[in-house]
Amino acid sequence: MTVTILDHLVAGRPWAGASTRTAPVYDPALGVVSTEVRLASAADVDAVVAQARAAQVDWGEASVARRLDVLFRFRELLTTRRDELAQILTAEHGKVLADAAGEIARGIEVVDFALTMPHLNKGEFTQNASTGVDVYSVREPLGVVGIISPFNFPAMVPLWFFPLAIAAGNAVVLKPSEKDPSASNWLAALLHEAGLPPGVMNVVHGDKEAVDALLVHPGVAAISFVGSTPIAQYVYQQATAAGKRVQALGGAKNHMLVLPDADLDLAADAAVNAGFGSAGERCMAVSALLVVDSVADALIERIRTRMAALRTGDGRRGCDMGPLITAAHRDRVSGYIDVAAADGATVVVDGRGGEFDGAADGFWLGPTLLDRVPLDSAAYRDEIFGPVLSVIRVSGFAEAIDIINASPYGNGTAIFTNDGGAARRFQRQVQVGMIGINVPIPVPVAYYSFGGWKASMFGDSKAYGAAGYAFFTREKAVTSRWLDPSHGGINLGFPQND
Ligand code: NAD
Repeated sequence: MTVTILDHLVAGRPWAGASTRTAPVYDPALGVVSTEVRLASAADVDAVVAQARAAQVDWGEASVARRLDVLFRFRELLTTRRDELAQILTAEHGKVLADAAGEIARGIEVVDFALTMPHLNKGEFTQNASTGVDVYSVREPLGVVGIISPFNFPAMVPLWFFPLAIAAGNAVVLKPSEKDPSASNWLAALLHEAGLPPGVMNVVHGDKEAVDALLVHPGVAAISFVGSTPIAQYVYQQATAAGKRVQALGGAKNHMLVLPDADLDLAADAAVNAGFGSAGERCMAVSALLVVDSVADALIERIRTRMAALRTGDGRRGCDMGPLITAAHRDRVSGYIDVAAADGATVVVDGRGGEFDGAADGFWLGPTLLDRVPLDSAAYRDEIFGPVLSVIRVSGFAEAIDIINASPYGNGTAIFTNDGGAARRFQRQVQVGMIGINVPIPVPVAYYSFGGWKASMFGDSKAYGAAGYAFFTREKAVTSRWLDPSHGGINLGFPQND
């Protein structure tokens, strides 16, 4: 079988670049290579940035009405053709089709939000700040912005950023994950179909070489990164040292606390959905389940019953959970089951032994439940990023807060309780960026902002929402006075208001 090659998408057209390096892209449910993706060299990145810079000049001058016109058409096309995109996500990421549809819906929310750009872009105006002097502010685009995205949301994470960047008048160079790159080409092609001028949205494929080139390129003004914590920190350090504005979202270890007064059926549903949805490959997945000891057995029994009914297999066959992204990642994740057991945890459900509704070579691992996982085990400390849910029994509320706050990560967390006072205390005391109260995956809607604390985010500007838009603009403050014969003359003192 001849394997196709996925080109970069530059100025609206496929582009091979000069580099001859490629990487395999798998269909994880089949375990076979479906495509080879090009890996750009630094010179390729340079050529793409040059195209983007040239296109940005006119796009930055385009009227608000024209920018909105393109984004409205893009939204219509994306809404109409979302099933096509869902098929691409399932074929390269492995997530089940219903979950792929959910990812796209969350991405469309950000396009909706980008359409409120006329309000977000408004400046301020003060008439007569000094006699005859007006002061006002305007927001302008940054120029060319780089977006570097992870494998686990190949459509949604780019959509967190590029609609806002483009609405603000920037040009974009998107470097998606090389593990599932096709969704980015599809989205960029759709933008061109919607009327975006060539060169405003570009996709360059690659690995570390392409990322490094973007981080130091003098023609790139800002970097939006999402990925694992070590790379997020590296990206933040490199790109800020090169003088760029950076938002770098990293990894996570999300805790869900269940208090004894919680509705245990609701909590069990939530733990299963948030632990095993997308095979646990979500930065907001619940991986550490803190349960007050008195209800731990009852909760575990409910979770185990639900897990027995889950069907793992090919995402195109109506299964509940798909495969992991690569064989290497599947092996790494399943290795944590042995690590936890060796450290004294009880393996309640071992996902390695399950049956899978898919090809024999798919990258399978079934839902796994561990109990009594010690806090010093790597199975607790590390971000596993797979379908492994670890139960940690706690004596009560205070111990749970201490555990959550001792974690180096601070992306998301949730509490399940019927006690409003406890929920309020939880929300105030946890050092985490996104909190759920009887909601296991508290991803904020598009008009709030997404971002964690501590090692889950580097930089001070969260993704999407008003802060996400502001990231892609810079403000000018203008002090103006129109000629008036009563003013003038020499005054070497610092200007003061009168
Ligand atoms: P990753 O860090 O391996 O890769 C992310 C991006 O960085 C990719 O585009 C990749 O090509 C690039 N990259 C990888 N290694 C690099 C290197 N050494 N130098 C320069 N660039 C490099 O992450 P991943 O495995 O694709 O995604 C999963 C991770 O992303 C998890 O840790 C998950 O928690 C995190 N994530 C975080 C959020 C969030 O909002 N905080 C959202 C989604 C995913």
